[in-house]
Amino acid sequence: MERRKFIKNSSLSAAGLVSASTLAACKTDTKPEVAPASTIPVQTAVKPIVVCTWNFFNATEKAWEVLKSGGNALDAVEQGVRVEEADETNETVGKGGRPDRDGNVTLDACIMDKDGNCGSVVCMQNIVHPVSVARKVMEETPHIILAGKGAEKFAYEQGFKKEDLFTESTRKQYEEWLKTSKYETTINIENHDTIGMLAIDDNGDIAGACTTSGMAYKVAGRVGDSPIIGAGLFIDNEVGGATATGVGEEVIRTVGSFLIVELMRQGKSPQEACEEGVKRIMKKNEGRKDFQIGFLAINKNGETGGYCVHPGFTYREYSENGHENREVTSFYE
Ligand code: ASP
Repeated sequence: MERRKFIKNSSLSAAGLVSASTLAACKTDTKPEVAPASTIPVQTAVKPIVVCTWNFFNATEKAWEVLKSGGNALDAVEQGVRVEEADETNETVGKGGRPDRDGNVTLDACIMDKDGNCGSVVCMQNIVHPVSVARKVMEETPHIILAGKGAEKFAYEQGFKKEDLFTESTRKQYEEWLKTSKYETTINIENHDTIGMLAIDDNGDIAGACTTSGMAYKVAGRVGDSPIIGAGLFIDNEVGGATATGVGEEVIRTVGSFLIVELMRQGKSPQEACEEGVKRIMKKNEGRKDFQIGFLAINKNGETGGYCVHPGFTYREYSENGHENREVTSFYE
């Protein structure tokens, strides 16, 4: 039995949480009804393939190397996004991410595999690679999300090193920001933001990862969509995967990535599903123009699509068909 399942089963029974009668009551001979992904015609799938939000070409290149050498999708997305976490010049992910209002650099990340296993860390400080801690949460504990100090303590127990996540540049910017302390959720149309990555390996299996320092100068303790399974990232190996960037609060309100995967299950293409996802958000925000969201999706065939609120969002795609940075269409012109 896999270690994770073993821990789960043994911890449940040891705690006396699952009685024999409960198990008997849950036992059923009929298969649960889940809408099949039969509406997605199985064609000659493009694989391996990797896509990521924005133009993070070093990260995509790294993931592509893993896939090309026969590695699995889970390793590819972890290795890929780690490149951005380590890049100090990227001020929205990992080391060098901008701090909250109180001067704490707090990171959020999650990862999800082909079997629906997932792990996440939220509001974690002093660790450069939250995505790898999220993977450890997934593989070494019976839990899914660890937060704050608990996540950091777990990371040290797993051998991660303590590191100051501030850089000279972000410290200076923060000191400057303190002079006015003006907080606003500005539209970010730059090529530097949350990295969400989706990959399909040679076996046709899908995995995804998402990592961020969240909104700059956020209220201390704030957590966005990026580490929330279903919001910032969702994978269903029968159907495809989706990930998000932009104002996390709006993505959470529609459980954006889960919504997009379910829309693909119902037969929409990745492009159509991303468009519908943004439209759902805009329906709740009629006339509002002060925020950006970008969705990215891939289906089991390796077809990809993206859509955003304002022009500017792009995604990077690597496959045998080429390496491209794709501009996506937007809700507002
Ligand atoms: N989605 C991230 C958050 O809300 C930030 C971003 O992508 O800009 O934390």
